[in-house]
Amino acid sequence: MEEKMEQQSTQDRLPDPDEMYVHLENRLRALGHSLDLDRIRAAYEMAKRGHEGQKRKDGSPYLTHCVATAEIAVDFGLDEDSIVAALLHDTIEDTGITHEEIEHRFGSAVADIVDGVTKLTRVQYTSKEDEQMENLRKMLMAMAKDIRVILIKIADRLHNMRTMAYQSPEKQRSKSLETMEIYAPLAHRLGMQRAKWELEDLALQYLDPEGYKEITGSLEQKMPQLESFMDLVKKKIQQRLDEEGIHASIFSRIKHVYSIYRKMYSQKLNLDGIFDLCAFRVIVDTIPDCYNVLGVIHDMFKPVPGRFKDYISTPKPNLYQSVHTTVIGSEGIPFEVQIRTWDMHHTAEYGIAAHWKYKMNDSGASLRLGDEDKFAWVRRLLESQQESDAQDFFHNLKIDMFADEVFVFSPKGDVINLPAGATPIDFAYMIHSDVGNHMVGASVNGRIVTFDYVLQNGDIVEIRTSKSAPGPSRDWLNVAQSGSARTKIKQWFKKERRDENIQRGRDMLSDELRHNGIALDEVMDEELMAPVLKRLCFNSPDDLFAAIGYGGLTAARAANRLKDELARSAKDEKKTALDKVSQAAERREQQATKRESKPIQGILVQGLDNCLVKFSRCCTPVPGDPVVGFITRGQGVSIHRLDCENFINRSRDPAEDGRWIKVSWADEITERYNTSLMIYAKDRTGLVMDIATVLNTLNAKVRTLNARDNSGLAQIYVTLEVKDVQELHYIVNKLSQIGGVTDITRNGK
Ligand code: MN
Repeated sequence: MEEKMEQQSTQDRLPDPDEMYVHLENRLRALGHSLDLDRIRAAYEMAKRGHEGQKRKDGSPYLTHCVATAEIAVDFGLDEDSIVAALLHDTIEDTGITHEEIEHRFGSAVADIVDGVTKLTRVQYTSKEDEQMENLRKMLMAMAKDIRVILIKIADRLHNMRTMAYQSPEKQRSKSLETMEIYAPLAHRLGMQRAKWELEDLALQYLDPEGYKEITGSLEQKMPQLESFMDLVKKKIQQRLDEEGIHASIFSRIKHVYSIYRKMYSQKLNLDGIFDLCAFRVIVDTIPDCYNVLGVIHDMFKPVPGRFKDYISTPKPNLYQSVHTTVIGSEGIPFEVQIRTWDMHHTAEYGIAAHWKYKMNDSGASLRLGDEDKFAWVRRLLESQQESDAQDFFHNLKIDMFADEVFVFSPKGDVINLPAGATPIDFAYMIHSDVGNHMVGASVNGRIVTFDYVLQNGDIVEIRTSKSAPGPSRDWLNVAQSGSARTKIKQWFKKERRDENIQRGRDMLSDELRHNGIALDEVMDEELMAPVLKRLCFNSPDDLFAAIGYGGLTAARAANRLKDELARSAKDEKKTALDKVSQAAERREQQATKRESKPIQGILVQGLDNCLVKFSRCCTPVPGDPVVGFITRGQGVSIHRLDCENFINRSRDPAEDGRWIKVSWADEITERYNTSLMIYAKDRTGLVMDIATVLNTLNAKVRTLNARDNSGLAQIYVTLEVKDVQELHYIVNKLSQIGGVTDITRNGK
């Protein structure tokens, strides 16, 4: 009803271009720039002449569109040439006025801008992507040549969108789509927030009239409540900043319709479900004041974690600078506060256009934006197009123009910033590696989604985890979009699961072996393990454990292999050890000259004379015992019995290959040798005395005799000197006849 009345009143009184121009001229005069108002008026006159008799859809003179576009160019803060070009922007396209005429009267810069706008206007956006690409390319060519072309095109589009009501529904729709897909993102990319918002809201009106009305209608209802809330907060902040002596201007606003719409759509919420409808802006004079205000705001209200963004220290690519924070007021309503300086504010509102203003104020000269480094992205786009086909170029352009980030909520309301295309996997790893590694499911806005679901702005993402989760799969590397998630997944594959699996596998194998009466340590021998690993195709015991741990190999199978190997090696053990010794001896024999060795302490060492010989304490060999020698480091040759455990164990060590050598007892031995015996007996009174008596009777020279009682069982350790193994056996035989003696062993430990 209201809208109809508005249309009616517009029709009643059509806009008059002369009136509009007077208004524009007064505005320009008030700006106080050194503008050539005569030159601008001349442009108006030329446009008036050219568009004579042309009417817009609403019936008003076409010229009103030209003046309105120039007016917006002034809003944007553009320079004199831009204002002139804005007035003339449709002359080449729609009137008989030529490039030459414009160049002759206003110079080549203005003529080129008008020419550029004309080319953009001629571009017909069709459903064919190739043609869209072609149009966009022309548009960008023009931009690269002179960015003012695109700025005037945005002004032109803005006015056309504002007055779209009289167009056919088809045209409304196609222009709105184009606006949403091309001009609003361009405005965003150029940092022109205000133009972007207006373009989006206007386009939405035609793309989803119902949705638009629903929001504006609800907002209207809520308005008294929202306004009193905003007034209250504003007053509070103002009062506090006054107390702190910070000079600041505070503004509040309702977020623009399209941003609310997008949030509602993506979160499938109604307006009541969207809490932060209001935003506040504090504008100060200096950067330090920005941070002072931030401190005050955080002191006054509770900051929402994760919502603080410092675009002052790190400006956005479109030059935007501000500090953002979201806080919760005493009413429990969260709201965003943006803090910036006036300079930053101008840049935020008008983007690159703001730069003219300042440059123009400095020198009065216009700025050729083609020279600006800051627009390197335009050139990059143009460069990239040369190598790729049309399809790719459009794709690249879309990526570059449209948001390359996606913002989603955690269930707690934290905003998580992810690269566009991110999936629940990226989200989970962004929260924490543990969340990612234990993820078993994900839901978005309460609905269960697959792991490759592409997150949309405003999604509320919830990750379900489980301690018994199997961990990430290799596929996740293809699904994850963020480098950090991929890195964490790779790390897990490298480290976390392997460690866990090795430990688990080791435990499982240990259990399995224990059931077979084997200790894990028994099989943890390289020589034993090596053939088993080889047969099962593993490089290391850890690989074997890891495989058992994750279920690639059963513990029973590994245990059986090891058991077989253990049995085989036990049988071969002595033979193998002896073989090694004789092999080494053969090598040594080949090397050594054949000559008689002299016995040292009754021992002949193969190939070595005059070496130091000592008898090992572990097995105390005596003549007649089969013996073997070990070349020690710096202490001569140590003599062991062939059945000595140390020999058997150490001879398997490849590092000691060749150090075991053949030795033998000399034919004639005069020395006596120390050896030791362990006598086991039931303890009784006089046992030790009886043993001592027997030894004494046998003329055995006892060096030590130690008796130990172990709950009724006696252990007597004797070291004594003997001539040879026959004498030793004789002594052992006699000792074993003593009452209570149960066993006698050599080198008892
Ligand atoms: Mn136009």
